[in-house]
Amino acid sequence: MKALIENIQHYSLHDGPGIRTTVFFKGCPLRCRWCSNPTTQNMGRELLQKPNECLGCGLCATLCPRDAIKAECGPPRVDRARCDACGLCAASCRGKALLMAGQEYSLDEVFGRIRKDMLFYRNSGGGVTLSGGEVLAQHAFAVELCGRCAALGIHTAIETSGFAPYEHFRALALVADVIFYDIKHLDPARHKELTGQDNALILANLERFLAETDKSVHIRLPLVPGLNDDAAHLEAYGAYLAGLPGVPERADLEVLPYHRLGKDKYAMLGREYGLGDTPPMPRAEAEAAVRLLRGRAGDLKVFCAA
Ligand code: SF4
Ligand code: SF4
Repeated sequence: MKALIENIQHYSLHDGPGIRTTVFFKGCPLRCRWCSNPTTQNMGRELLQKPNECLGCGLCATLCPRDAIKAECGPPRVDRARCDACGLCAASCRGKALLMAGQEYSLDEVFGRIRKDMLFYRNSGGGVTLSGGEVLAQHAFAVELCGRCAALGIHTAIETSGFAPYEHFRALALVADVIFYDIKHLDPARHKELTGQDNALILANLERFLAETDKSVHIRLPLVPGLNDDAAHLEAYGAYLAGLPGVPERADLEVLPYHRLGKDKYAMLGREYGLGDTPPMPRAEAEAAVRLLRGRAGDLKVFCAA
């Protein structure tokens, strides 16, 4: 069994408790305007370009079998419509100005990387986080990987939008120790406008899972200025969560203030950044949003990411 992985990041401190190894799966059915990991969105390998690293040798243009690279005075120009992501140019680029996002890994290969960090997991209470992209887009691999981790006592977390068949979500969520579940907007039409997909499946999966199982879910709201931070939306959001099965005992809500850390990755992909000059969400505004949410969320614990 193989999976297309964008990156395996060691020593992460952000995706669950302790020191973690985060596996970023390729492929996502959503296209959130604020996505900070655009290099994980497409289910396929992609060419990344860092023009500032280019040595100007012109080798890539001579190697490309599809004539997709034009050597110029300065960094070469990539015609992405012609590129089929064969990776020949990146493999030979001495400046590391051309890189590939996405590599096929077997279960043994990913698990081998994970096992190297066992000491860090033990000493810090950490483990492994399966992220993306959307991990459920490659659910069978993810379930197997979580199962192997569990067999060795390695803590696991998943980060998901929940946009997948219920059975896929349930199978993975039941084997993971911690579930981070994004709800980006409550209004179906607005959700589709912001992410490319309606939210009906996401909400239905969460409601059913909380009703059918006794597992806890950590719900997350990426809070983006001007897109989902208005008072009417936050009040409706809090009220919706307060009425979910298992709340407040088996759920909480973490607000993730918008940041611009993924902006440079769009340039590396030759894509426009969807949020232009939107500034990062000020801490004070995120905390005001938390207060609004708390006002409608009953006993649900609501907090802001550190
Ligand atoms: S091979 Fe790399 S360093 Fe050389 S021109 Fe191409 S991008 Fe620049
Ligand atoms: S990845 Fe392959 S097709 Fe694309 S620019 Fe490089 S050599 Fe050409």
